[in-house]
Amino acid sequence: MRMTVLASGSKGNSTVIASAETRVLVDAGLSCRELMKRMALAKEDPAALDAILITHEHQDHVAGLSVLARRLRIPVYFTEPTHRAWIRMMTPRTTMTYAKWLEHVQREKEARAALDALETAEARLQPDLESSGPKPCDASGLIQIEAASSDVEAEEEDAPEAVFRRDSASLPAVEYFQPGTNFSIGDLSITPFTTPHDAADPCGFVFESASESIRMAIATDLGYMPPNVKRALERIDVLLLESNHDLEMLKDGPYPWAVKQRVLSRVGHLSNHATAEFLARDYDGNATYIVLGHLSETNNIPELALLSAEEAIRERGRLLGNRILLAQQSAPIVPICL
Ligand SMILES: [Zn+2]
Ligand SMILES: [Zn+2]
Repeated sequence: MRMTVLASGSKGNSTVIASAETRVLVDAGLSCRELMKRMALAKEDPAALDAILITHEHQDHVAGLSVLARRLRIPVYFTEPTHRAWIRMMTPRTTMTYAKWLEHVQREKEARAALDALETAEARLQPDLESSGPKPCDASGLIQIEAASSDVEAEEEDAPEAVFRRDSASLPAVEYFQPGTNFSIGDLSITPFTTPHDAADPCGFVFESASESIRMAIATDLGYMPPNVKRALERIDVLLLESNHDLEMLKDGPYPWAVKQRVLSRVGHLSNHATAEFLARDYDGNATYIVLGHLSETNNIPELALLSAEEAIRERGRLLGNRILLAQQSAPIVPICL
């Protein structure tokens, strides 16, 4: 199994998890172009991705989502509340008069009819278009709410002139999962767990490959470490764990008081201190690699986060075998393979 952290931090998050047969991207918090660039740097083939999984709808986790999903024509897995919140976020709120609204509905109808006509013509020209659609995935027990559509435009982020540009919240396919309920994509078994964070329905993930019995987890954007997260992080071989801020730097830093309160709250982010406390007291010491992630560029220094976690581990002599790495905001880290 392999974990490739493409980006981690308050300005964008994205990680590839790969088993023998399946590859998924967790979060798409950079532009599509930047994600493609980072995958190339890390030698991860975007065309081999089977799905995108979303932890929650904050911008640093979804910035490139719609463009990337449409470009790769792969399904996106959300919880239903997260999907709804994301759609609301992507839908610009405008007020208009009734007459303007009628005009808008009429224009949409015409655009849809034109698009349908174009798609029909394309389908006639390319009867095997289906074969280039999303890859099959075993999502038994999940609700498929949108059939895969054949995107006709070669979509570019910087091509606003595209005539039939789709609704910004449209995706090739959407699958719902529920925190606490295990599901599979190919040979990858996935258990989402609820995290305390100020989003609609935030979660972390545990990934397990049936053939390799290796377990990897992603746990970031946590206000604190509740018992369900501690339980989810037992017997993990590679753990991407939040170490967001240094308490003193945050308190003395430039953020407005309300933002400081939000970060410090039980639905904000884990401090270096809180992460160290978890490692010292509750962590089972199982991981070969602990990757510290979601560091704030304003309120943390990577060396401080590392020192704090290493000290916590050092207090527990038998855990010296655990390697602690730092994820980066600006570049992918070397893929971790077990
Ligand atoms: Zn968040
Ligand atoms: Zn975040």
